Amino acid sequence: PLVLGIESSCDETGVGIVRGTELLANAVASSVEEHVRFGGVVPEVASRAHLEAFVPMLEKAQADAGVSVADVDAIAVTSGPGLTGALLVGIAAAKALAIAYDKPLYGINHLVAHVCVDRLEHGELPEPTAALLVSGGHTNLLLVDDVTSSVRMLGETIDDAAGEAFDKVARLLGLPYPGGPQIDRAARDGDPTAIAFPRGLTSGRDMEKHRYDFSFSGLKSAVARHVEHEERMGREISVPDVAASFQDAVCDVLSAKTVRACLDHGAKHLVLGGGVAANQRLRHFVLERASEAGIEVRIPPPVLCTDNGAMVAALGSALVAKGVAPSSLDLPADSSMPVTQIVA
Ligand code: ATP
Ligand code: MG
Ligand code: FE
Repeated sequence: PLVLGIESSCDETGVGIVRGTELLANAVASSVEEHVRFGGVVPEVASRAHLEAFVPMLEKAQADAGVSVADVDAIAVTSGPGLTGALLVGIAAAKALAIAYDKPLYGINHLVAHVCVDRLEHGELPEPTAALLVSGGHTNLLLVDDVTSSVRMLGETIDDAAGEAFDKVARLLGLPYPGGPQIDRAARDGDPTAIAFPRGLTSGRDMEKHRYDFSFSGLKSAVARHVEHEERMGREISVPDVAASFQDAVCDVLSAKTVRACLDHGAKHLVLGGGVAANQRLRHFVLERASEAGIEVRIPPPVLCTDNGAMVAALGSALVAKGVAPSSLDLPADSSMPVTQIVA
């Protein structure tokens, strides 16, 4: 099926077009530059940027794919989770197109789309597949039995998202937003064993209760205390060493719990998604530990890992192919849409 996908859950305005598992167009505009001076995504600013970027992205996607909205079999749009005001822009646009062109409309789950996008790169998803989604807004460990009908949440962050932790620690180190790529780069010249930072929820009662969950706010506080302490002692901090030690703490826990979840649930395949999947150290840890455990790792290219419209279209296309009924035209923006709900 030929499907148009629309994404507007955070700071990317994405319009993608796919045919089956073939990627035809993926037009993305990001408002990240407008959020730099605030050090994080400002919902109101993001919503306004979606309004401005939507029509240009729709036109670009149609031109790139050489198809028009009139040709598609269905329209898919992110229904949640995400920022309500941002989601509403994409949803309003999708409803307008669905009505104007008389197309079925699928309100889909953003997290499941992050997993499904891998079909565009590596083909059909083997089942069961585990997925680790790590971005500025989410940190989830999922088990996918069927991307169109059965997805379970195994674990998630109990406080900050992984990307958020990178961004906050970068700020403590005086590095600009978004901090993930900055820390990744600085860490290459640092010693990851220089400072022993805590690994959240990995031992004792915490591990029993939160086997697949993550916590990064204690780690962030530990970095803040380290920086303050060094300043008080009149010592200059080593940004590369702090960056490398922090990054190792995050990536060690993410990879260890993910591989554990795969083994516990008999998942022989693992998909990574979200902006933090670009992190060199995370890739290294995951690939090394997964290969020891006999697990195949599938990492889509960076443009498909971060938020985009093609991932929405990819899930829409899988749903149409399976004969899943479309959503109602009054589908909502659901900021906390559960992962078990694949279609609104
Ligand atoms: P959402 O959470 O809705 O998916 P988002 O905009 O918060 O959207 P992405 O665009 O997927 O998330 O990713 C951005 C996040 O990824 C930022 O927090 C950024 O710091 C982080 N990031 C990007 N590259 C790297 C990297 N190489 N290492 C670590 N973190 C990174
Ligand atoms: Mg983003
Ligand atoms: Fe996302």
